[in-house]
Amino acid sequence: MKTLIRGGRLIDPSRGLDMISDLLIENDKIIGIGTGIAVPDASILIDASNLIVSPGFIDIHCHLREPGEEHKETIATGTAAGAKGGFTTLCAMPNTIPAMDNPEMLLDIKARAEKFGIVKVIPIGSVTLGRYGKILTDMRGMADAGAIGFSDDGNPIADYHIMHKALLQAKALGLPIINHCEDPSLSKNGVMNEGIVASALGLPGWPSLAEENMVKRDIELAMQTNSRIHLAHISTRGSVEFIRQAKNMGINITAEATPHHLTITEEWVRPINDSMLKYNTNAKVNPPLRTKEDVDAIVLALSDGTIDCIGTDHAPHSTEDKSYSFEDASFGISGLETAFGALMSLVHKNRIDLSTLIKSLTYAPARIINKPDICTGTLDVGSRADVTIFDPDLRWQVKSDLFISKGKNTPIAEEFLQGYIKTTIVDGRIVYESEDPIIVD
Ligand SMILES: [Zn+2]
Repeated sequence: MKTLIRGGRLIDPSRGLDMISDLLIENDKIIGIGTGIAVPDASILIDASNLIVSPGFIDIHCHLREPGEEHKETIATGTAAGAKGGFTTLCAMPNTIPAMDNPEMLLDIKARAEKFGIVKVIPIGSVTLGRYGKILTDMRGMADAGAIGFSDDGNPIADYHIMHKALLQAKALGLPIINHCEDPSLSKNGVMNEGIVASALGLPGWPSLAEENMVKRDIELAMQTNSRIHLAHISTRGSVEFIRQAKNMGINITAEATPHHLTITEEWVRPINDSMLKYNTNAKVNPPLRTKEDVDAIVLALSDGTIDCIGTDHAPHSTEDKSYSFEDASFGISGLETAFGALMSLVHKNRIDLSTLIKSLTYAPARIINKPDICTGTLDVGSRADVTIFDPDLRWQVKSDLFISKGKNTPIAEEFLQGYIKTTIVDGRIVYESEDPIIVD
């Protein structure tokens, strides 16, 4: 079966490609790039004129909630939401119930994804049994079962000695430890960024230092052990500085930032204009939304490569989970369906160039994941046909009740975004085609 994508602007940052071209897919592979490809026997023809054709997006960090919390998300709904967001591969964090802490569970997740997944799912195994931070898991067994790295995400690996041992084991397997950087002795019961908004709202603060302390420790450990650490969801200016210095010294670390930490601040925790509520629990996330100075530093870091890639940290919750007091509401933002539109605001404001943004969603995470048989983040001839087609300028309004994700928890509901996913193709199959966007002006 052949699919021809005709006349789009192909952008593939892995080799600096940016040109108007056709793209030909046969079965699950890209077999041709060039202008004027004539394919009389193409079974599917996609007119991509005035659209951008990119490698399929890869999310190195999301929460699919299955097994254990299927009322928040399932592999079926999470991967469908991913497809709508332009993602062709999702890396699933292991903070399920029970935790994904053994090879059998990873194989089970892969089997479920094979059966119910709309896009590809790659599992991340947990570092410690039950994610309790005490006893290391069978990392070798999980690597054999397909883990692309190990993380206790949701929790940090706070114990220095456990982290040290974990790094040596992961190093022997050639895989990274992905750490959620939070020093619990400093974040304590904090629920939002420590600062003036927290003081004004009377909420306990989660200081920048809680993240930066652990980023510093991890850099030190990566240097000592010469092993790979990937730092999840970096949120502060200080962390960015530590990472920049470490990379300049040649230390083997990589880092990600979320769409929300790149685009909105702690101010979003304040109540929505006409609401009677004291705050907006949909803006409660871990690590918390920070200040404008932090956001600016992270945008600059993404632009200069200090931050390698985007991870959505898609964290769907039920409406009930978010309807408690701010202190008791769950942490997390449902982000797969708004990630691209939100990030495009940085391109439209000339804060980051389009090619860098696409790289951070494609080739950069693919290199960290390092599973070229599953995803390469490129449009190379011969590679898997994972392709995302989008309109960079189309304006639309976020309607959380129309999310495919079970998690309607977004702080940017009703906001206007510019940049719209049109078509998502996984292994040569069209898995998502958009309807016209909702615009109510
Ligand atoms: Zn985390």
